[in-house]
Amino acid sequence: MAILRFVLLTILVLVVLRLVRFALAPPRRPAGRSAPPPRTLPEALVQDPVCGLRLPASRAVRDGEAFFCSEDCRRASRGR
Ligand SMILES: [Zn+2]
Repeated sequence: MAILRFVLLTILVLVVLRLVRFALAPPRRPAGRSAPPPRTLPEALVQDPVCGLRLPASRAVRDGEAFFCSEDCRRASRGR
C-alpha cells in the first residue's frame, strides 16, 4: 500500500513543520503582564525650579545649568 505510506509521510511532515514553527515562534508574554509596545525613547524631562513644571529639555529655556518653562520663570529666578 504505497498510498498509505504516502499519506502517513505527509501527515508526519505536516506535524514536524508545525512543531518547528512553534519552536521558532517568539515566546508569548503572559496575559495581563504584557509590556507596552516599544516606542521612541522619551526625552529627558527637566524641572523648572521656579514653578516646578516638568518639561522636555528641548522645550525648556536654558540658563546655565538650570531649565525653565518660560522666559518669565527664568527672569523670576534671577530677580530673587
Ligand atoms: Zn515655570
